[in-house]
Amino acid sequence: MLLTHVFNAGIVGCGGAGFPTHVKLNCQAEYMIINGAECEPLLNTDKYLMRHFAGEIVSAAEKCGDQVGAKHVVIAIKDYYEAENAALSEAIRTLGSRVEIFLLHNYYPAGDEQMIVYEVTGRVVPPGGIPIAVGTVVSNIATMLAVSEAMDGQPLIHKYMTIGGDVPEAALLRVPVGMPLAECLAAAGIACEPGRQYILGGPMMGRYVYGADLAKEVVTKTTSGILVLPESAEWSMPALQQMINRARSACIQCHYCTDLCPRHLLGHPLRPHMIMRRMAMSGPAFADELLQDPEIQNAAICCECGVCERFACPMGLAPRSINSALKKKLGAAGIRYQSDGQSTEPLPFRNYRTVPAPSLTARLGLAKYMSAHPDTCIEVSASEVQILLKQHVGAPAKPCVSEGDRVSEGQLVAAPPEGALGANIHSSIDGVVDRIEADRIIIRSEVA
Ligand code: SF4
Ligand code: SF4
Repeated sequence: MLLTHVFNAGIVGCGGAGFPTHVKLNCQAEYMIINGAECEPLLNTDKYLMRHFAGEIVSAAEKCGDQVGAKHVVIAIKDYYEAENAALSEAIRTLGSRVEIFLLHNYYPAGDEQMIVYEVTGRVVPPGGIPIAVGTVVSNIATMLAVSEAMDGQPLIHKYMTIGGDVPEAALLRVPVGMPLAECLAAAGIACEPGRQYILGGPMMGRYVYGADLAKEVVTKTTSGILVLPESAEWSMPALQQMINRARSACIQCHYCTDLCPRHLLGHPLRPHMIMRRMAMSGPAFADELLQDPEIQNAAICCECGVCERFACPMGLAPRSINSALKKKLGAAGIRYQSDGQSTEPLPFRNYRTVPAPSLTARLGLAKYMSAHPDTCIEVSASEVQILLKQHVGAPAKPCVSEGDRVSEGQLVAAPPEGALGANIHSSIDGVVDRIEADRIIIRSEVA
């Protein structure tokens, strides 16, 4: 029953790549963990949801826990989230719920899926594995709110998002899926400037876009915020070959990147300084034979948290970006990480090497923006939405409407191909299907 509601509503993991939730919940697990860490600096979306929709979140977490047969249903939040803790605790009391709250220390990346599994269960997900390998399912706060709404028959067509960073006033918005991001900024009173850089998501793992390119971006089911970077910021990374050249000339093999790597500290065999050494010792151009090197293949288990390049490296090098490029090359070559399925032991000094979140924020130059905690949400409507057919892991959805059709808010407009992994897509406004392009459906409101 729950899975049918979740599938019909087109719910995907709102906090990551968008894995279809009806598939994730179709298993048996001992732990159901709801990730409320929101550990990326400057994002306030999940914290707002926990304060204002605690009952819905607790109730949905319990239903999801029942679905997977979990003995333990846990919402994990940072230890300093006092207001969120109070709201969730009150909801648990009022509902007589079996949901528990787990307090995480304020380090980065406490919200990484594998960190949170270890913190809550004491189990380490095997390298290259996923949480169900240790009897755990992890979802997040926004997904729980979507599940709660799905139980009332509402599809996932709106997103809550943070507007923050170098802006006069940080804001929280509730916007239709498919709304252009430049219009979201405008709704918060911020002009989209061509020379500015923006981050879609958080500053550590989000995607960087330049002003002109922001015009092409729209809200998807996984959007959590837009951060505006200070004009002086130089955060984008150069091309792979340039990064390799820099590694060759400047990597001092101090191995700080490995010492602080969260996955390495869990006992995984990832050693970014060794990957940098291999890259530095390769020839002037990237050689595909490098992909056969087991040390290089370990790049596949990098979670791209960015600790190595945004915090650890004293030379300003880019191990994370190199790993990211290597992962694409490994994928294109059909080389998959060979996991033996065995769990590993965290290194004994792990707890002393986690990166305190305030230190990270200071290192990023973002501390001055951290005091903004908006607590009201602006409801935004759109005159046109561009709804992407692939906002999730799996196959793109196939349109089930035609150009010129009138559609209503919440109406199904695209569905996954028969038997394929994917998610339903719904219209987020009342309007007319203006165009259907290869990757999107454009719907125009008829209200002037
Ligand atoms: S981005 Fe760097 S620190 Fe993070 S998991 Fe990858 S190698 Fe480790
Ligand atoms: S921290 Fe930087 S300089 Fe040190 S080994 Fe890693 S990439 Fe090289």
